[in-house]
Amino acid sequence: MTDLFNLYGKVAIVTGGNSGIGKSIARGLASMGANIVVAARNEFKTKETVHEIHAEFGNKVIGIRVDVQKEEQIRNLAAKTLEAFGRIDILVNNAGMNIRKFPQDYKVVEWDEIINTNLRSAFVCSQEAYPIMKTIGGGKIINIGSMLSIFGGAQLAPYGSSKGGIVQLTRSLAVAWAPDNIQVNAILPGYINTDLTRQARKDIPKLEQSIIDRTPLGRWGEPDDLSGTAIFLASRASDFVTGVALPVDGGFSVMV
Ligand code: NDP
Repeated sequence: MTDLFNLYGKVAIVTGGNSGIGKSIARGLASMGANIVVAARNEFKTKETVHEIHAEFGNKVIGIRVDVQKEEQIRNLAAKTLEAFGRIDILVNNAGMNIRKFPQDYKVVEWDEIINTNLRSAFVCSQEAYPIMKTIGGGKIINIGSMLSIFGGAQLAPYGSSKGGIVQLTRSLAVAWAPDNIQVNAILPGYINTDLTRQARKDIPKLEQSIIDRTPLGRWGEPDDLSGTAIFLASRASDFVTGVALPVDGGFSVMV
């Protein structure tokens, strides 16, 4: 039973692994023994993260620069990972961004940027990981959704569409790739204290307190609150779990 969460010898790609939730998930997987690929654009932040995780856990950790909006760069990410490690066991589709506006004010390029970063990238990364996972006998894909996978928001039309889409993508991939022993699940974080929400808290003065009041556990989440669920969904412990969208939200989604 103690081996249920063991990830020794596994290789995990975490998109957006140099910041916030992705960084905590990368650290969590590394703490259970996985070797890590940190995939993001900002090379300075990636280098720092690679160094930190390697120093803390001693695993092999590499950074690969990728803009997940660019299909060819995602194809390159998988190829470089194979070159470095020879396998991909775990893929965490976490890279994400947001632009807050009322629906009538978005430009189509902004819609495309959000959808491509948050949703299309998860599809293309998964497509790239699939044949490799199939060859090695299975794998784990973890997609990062949001409370906007469930709820609507006045200034969140493209973000909400991308995060709703993440849940349906998760279910479709889970069904399609079950025969290949690939489990595909989504985590729906509640409101988490990261760079992404820092701006929203500046722009919306009441947001900080209203989230605390609306969350049964009475606080914002911290990035490390996501690590345990990610370890579970990356490990043998979740071998009979596929296609689920699991809120990690302090109860936000169950309170009226
Ligand atoms: P951060 O802003 O801290 O992290 C976003 C990460 O995504 C960064 O590592 C960034 O790296 C990467 N990223 C963004 N665009 C691209 C791109 N085009 N190509 C490659 N990497 C990219 O935010 P969070 O940690 O909060 O967000 C992580 C995920 O969690 C997102 O999918 C977000 O939607 C989701 N989420 C967050 C919640 C929250 O409350 N914070 C709640 C629910 C979901 P770089 O800039 O170097 O490319």
